[in-house]
Amino acid sequence: MMFEKVLIANRGEIALRIHRACREMGISTVVVHSTADADGMAVRLADESVCIGPPPARDSYLNIPAILSAATITGADAIHPGIGFLAENARFAEMVEEHGFVFIGPSPEHIRIMGDKIEAKRTVKELGLPIVPGSDGPVETLDEARAVAETVGYPLLVKAAAGGGGRGMKVADTPDDLASAYSLARSESKAAFGDSAVYLERYLRRPRHIEVQILADTHGNVVHFGERDCSVQRRHQKVIEEAPSSGLNAAQRSFVGELAAKTARQLGYRGVGTFEFLFEDGEFFFIEMNTRLQVEHPVSEMISGVDLVREQVRVATGAPLDYDQSAIRFQGHAIECRINAENPQTFTPSPGRIASFHPPGGLGVRVDSALYDGYLVPPHYDSLIAKLIVHGTTRNECLMRLRRALEESVIEGVETTLPLHRWLVGETDFINGAYDIRWLEHLLADKAKGQG
Ligand code: ADP
Repeated sequence: MMFEKVLIANRGEIALRIHRACREMGISTVVVHSTADADGMAVRLADESVCIGPPPARDSYLNIPAILSAATITGADAIHPGIGFLAENARFAEMVEEHGFVFIGPSPEHIRIMGDKIEAKRTVKELGLPIVPGSDGPVETLDEARAVAETVGYPLLVKAAAGGGGRGMKVADTPDDLASAYSLARSESKAAFGDSAVYLERYLRRPRHIEVQILADTHGNVVHFGERDCSVQRRHQKVIEEAPSSGLNAAQRSFVGELAAKTARQLGYRGVGTFEFLFEDGEFFFIEMNTRLQVEHPVSEMISGVDLVREQVRVATGAPLDYDQSAIRFQGHAIECRINAENPQTFTPSPGRIASFHPPGGLGVRVDSALYDGYLVPPHYDSLIAKLIVHGTTRNECLMRLRRALEESVIEGVETTLPLHRWLVGETDFINGAYDIRWLEHLLADKAKGQG
């Protein structure tokens, strides 16, 4: 049975994105919001809205009792957690179901397994997925780390089991660095996630970040939507994403797509999810699975023509997928630029009032953003304010269109990373698709040197 009313437990562009999908499905929406977001675009457009607390996320978007009360009061059938906040909180997913609502996402069990990266690696390794060589489990002491390092070799990476957003990750280039990398990763993880468990992984030199979007129903059917290349990163965070990847050939592409779909099937997974891999010298290494929608999902939508949020909502009702892999046809090329309210050189957040907003348009141009003239970008949340997604029949057409769309874009009143994107799309390596996960950091470092 289709839902009549969905509560959206999120904010900003992603709340609007989910509202749009629900609207087109004839589903009423309830958007919950903090006092800082009372004027949010999704709040304005939703059928109903409920204020759930003051600006700090822990008092509002992470306030589980307030969100569940809002769902009860408004009579929602299901809760969509969006991206971030409670989207990967297994306890929340469980409580949503205990209170009689449908959680639009995977089972709490799968969220729990994949939320612990050590457990995640162990689980997929058993299913035959290649993983980055490293410690088999958590490393509890520096002596143990030293012993593992002997077999894994240097450089190596100390990673937080509970990690996310690139935090709790430290590189040790030589044995001399191990002690400090180990203790820094532990303390950073403890501070950010309340958990100091860490593990070791070989630090790959120049890999690409390749991820596969999958979709599973509750009847054992799984399809994939191809790969996304998210190698353009700063501090292990994605800046530009594209699909398909220029780094894969057709055989590698179908190999990794089928591998991800098969693993999801073996797991008995449901909903949308992403398997993330590092790809180096023709080999894929699993690094983690995200059990939710991702910021970069639109590039997969643009090349497949499928609304992934719509599909996510549909499978959450228990409906079976009514098509198989062969029905998913990929067309052309898509690139997404994440536009943040940040200084484009220092990357310090730049919240404030939007003096003017003129999004680009035309064929093959999509802007996912909750901005409008006069909107106040609050200082309390993530600085992502817009996603520019461009589609073209070929990668070259896509690039030309992206350049044109970036030229047209106007966001005034706050600093944004638009100038960064205008610069990057003109760089030869980017034009050639010849980049890896270190490319942007090196480029920024060279630029800083040139100016210093
Ligand atoms: P998070 O959950 O914090 O995003 P991930 O495990 O997804 O962490 O890794 C984020 C990014 O960090 C990757 O895209 C890659 O750039 C880098 N990274 C992670 N593991 C390795 C590794 N073993 N070697 C080199 N880079 C890595």
